Formats: sequence, structure tokens, C-alpha cells
Amino acid sequence: MKHPDLFANRTAVLITKHKKDEVIFPVLAQTGMNLKLLDTIDTDTFGTFTRDIDRKGTQLEAARYKALKAIEETGESIAIASEGSFGSHPTIFFAPANVELVLLIDTINDIEIAGWEISTDTNHSHSEVSSVKEALKFAKQCGFPSHGLAVRPNTGGDNSDILFKGITSEKILKEAVNKSIAESLDGKALLEPDMRAIYNPKRMKVIEKATINLLSKIKSLCPECGWLGFEITEWINGLPCENCFFPTRGIAKHIYQCKKCNHKKEIEYPYNQKYSEPTFCDFCNP
Ligand SMILES: [Zn+2]
Ligand SMILES: [Zn+2]
Repeated sequence: MKHPDLFANRTAVLITKHKKDEVIFPVLAQTGMNLKLLDTIDTDTFGTFTRDIDRKGTQLEAARYKALKAIEETGESIAIASEGSFGSHPTIFFAPANVELVLLIDTINDIEIAGWEISTDTNHSHSEVSSVKEALKFAKQCGFPSHGLAVRPNTGGDNSDILFKGITSEKILKEAVNKSIAESLDGKALLEPDMRAIYNPKRMKVIEKATINLLSKIKSLCPECGWLGFEITEWINGLPCENCFFPTRGIAKHIYQCKKCNHKKEIEYPYNQKYSEPTFCDFCNP
């Protein structure tokens, strides 16, 4: 029994207001789905990066909420939604990271498949500036004007009505900075890159990679029952140190599990490495 064509010729609706279809559709075209855009719902009301609206729940919950909203709105049975987050990299110290999720939900077959990508190529940062000159310097570091900026007064900013978003022209940037400086109690403006995908080509690239990850999971079929979305569910560490043979935190096995029949498959040495470098050994290098 094989199910590789579960999605072929069915309509999938992508919910986005920020042109994510430009990177998601070319990748998912390979599935044979009819890809439809739903851009009439203001996804910003579900949460934004500029802190004017808080996001509800985890990244996965937020994407799921959007996808189900798209299904409810359109009456289609497949929806795709994407959600990003920004913070510190989980393993690289002090590195800012962008985690992107592209989620597919099929309500007829009760399928949920998540594509993920983590990248340190992000301009996520912020700066408090006291002058237009400082603002322009920070803007340049963020990749302005191909990457948009958001500006607000530095103090009272979170509660202030004054928030300029999606700035891509120097003239508007200068005006926004001067106005924010004038309004702020400490005479400073707070600058951040606008992290919405449409204003952030770096983020758009990470979303594309998350979509490629989603596609590879869709194509990964259970060897037992043929159901799609056969993916890694456990990472087993204990790769031996090449010096002392003591088990390290290095990954020794990947466990794949089918969501339909629960069939499990072990892949030993998934990174084609049988030993860990002593640098990662708690015994040799505590
Ligand atoms: Zn299976
Ligand atoms: Zn060792």
C-alpha cells in the first residue's frame, strides 16, 4: 500500500499577508497540489514581532491556529501556514537565530507535517539612537533599505501609539527617528529591523528552507505502510569519544516513526560519524 499521491490535485490554501507564497509555492508545486493564496485575513492580529500585538501560544500553536483559520474561511481541507521566531541560538552561544516553521494540515486525512529551519543569518537586533546619523549607521548594518525598519520612541514606546513600521525610504526613516526622539522621555529612538517576511529578504530565505524541509518530510514515506511524513522523532545521543570511547552527547542514532502505523526505524550514525571528537567529550574535555 502506497500513499505518495495523497495531496495530488487537491487544493491547498496558504494563509499569508506578507507574500510568503513567493518562496513557498515554487517548492510545494512538486507535490501536485493546487496552491491557492489567502491574503485577505490580517494575520498580524494573531501576533507581530514589533510587540504591538502579543503572539498567542507557541510557534507551533500559532501556525496551527492560522492554518485552521484558513480551512475554516475557505472550506478547503489542506492549509499551509508559517510562523517565525527570533532569539538566541540553542547551541551557539550569543548568536542570534531565526527559527522558521512551515506547517501543513490536512483535515481529511488527519495529517500535520512541520518543516523547520534554524538560521543564524538574521538581522534581528535593536538599537537606541539619539540622532539621525546613528540611526542611518544602524540601518546600514540591518541591510536597509532592502530590509525594512521599525522605529518608535525609546521610553513609553511599548504603550505609545507611535510606531513606524515597514520603513524602506531614507526620507521616512529620518522623519520617524526625529518624531520618536521628540516624543521619547529620554530623547532616544528605538530602531529594529521589521521582521515581517515581506520586509526581510533574509527571513524569506529561511522560510524557503523550512518549506524544503517540509517537502522532504512529505516525500518521506513509511517503509511499512507507505504513509507520508515518516520523520525523525527521537535523537539518541551516546556517540563514543574517539579518544576514550566514553559515550558523549553526540548523536548516535535517529529514530524515525510513522504517524499512521507507529512503525519505527533506527538509523545508526546518521551523520556518517562513528566517533565524537574529544572536544565534545565530558571525560577528556570536562
Ligand atoms: Zn506506517
Ligand atoms: Zn573522551
